[in-house]
Amino acid sequence: MTVIDRYAVFGNPIKHSKSPRIHKLFAEQTGQTLVYEAQEVPTEQFSSAVKTFFADDGKGLNCTIPLKELAWAFADHKTERAQLAKAVNTLALQADGSILGDNTDGVGLITDLTNNHGINLADRNVLILGAGGATRGIIKPLREQSVKSIVVANRTIDKAINLATEFVKFGHIIGCGFEVLNKQHFDLIINATSTSLTGQLPPLPTNILAENGVCYDLAYSNEPTTFVRWGQENNALKSLDGLGMLVEQAAEAFFIWRGVRPLTEPVIKQLNDERLR
Ligand code: NDP
Repeated sequence: MTVIDRYAVFGNPIKHSKSPRIHKLFAEQTGQTLVYEAQEVPTEQFSSAVKTFFADDGKGLNCTIPLKELAWAFADHKTERAQLAKAVNTLALQADGSILGDNTDGVGLITDLTNNHGINLADRNVLILGAGGATRGIIKPLREQSVKSIVVANRTIDKAINLATEFVKFGHIIGCGFEVLNKQHFDLIINATSTSLTGQLPPLPTNILAENGVCYDLAYSNEPTTFVRWGQENNALKSLDGLGMLVEQAAEAFFIWRGVRPLTEPVIKQLNDERLR
């Protein structure tokens, strides 16, 4: 009997995830035979669910909110970018039976911003809203694009300050709360809080986006997210959501698992067409 390689995304909630659709399109495009499913996994069952999955012909997993830190702790060994992020979104079974943990969020964001949207990040002043796992994964990749400065603003101010202290070795970075965000203009504002998932918005002054500035919400939705709307209302040159990032981070995971790099452009186009229906 032929055993089909199994992949899945674990999260909670998970039913609206587009990852199964994306990996199905990747598999069709590249002629790979695999199945990819979404599974709702409560945090307290994460470890046993992962063990069961890999014991049952599972080859690779994506982990999303709120499981990325647990995936980081679970992995037998980690890539440098995952180590730094302290969050893992991709687990991959290795030939020796061990589990590798990686974080493909940063490369997903940078590829979407630069390749798909033609945004040059060099010398830009960047504001990141939120100081969770996603922020940890994107700081160094942004630095590698030679951005000028990074400010991380978070509801829990200590978290932003501690994060800035940890990442300052890669270049200029400041951690603060939202209430001091009225003295500077930013060329790129990234929403890495989970507020869009509940239709909320961090408390932002209206005068902080530079002329021709860009807004990017890591969250995505069929309708414009609250932060995408904020960007539009504040005259952003572009106000984007995280669908492209989702496809790009998935392509990187697919490459890790299958050794084949799918084309992302047709998949992004397909998903954009589907959400307009
Ligand atoms: P975390 O749970 O690690 O962090 C959540 C962050 O949101 C924290 O900084 C938290 O602040 C902040 N936050 C939550 N509620 C509020 C609120 N009401 N007001 C202000 N701040 C709030 O999540 P992640 O970092 O993993 O993910 C963040 C977002 O990025 C999610 O929407 C996720 O879906 C998205 N994402 C998208 C990806 C993509 O491929 N498109 C990839 C990765 C993430 P505090 O510290 O004070 O609690």
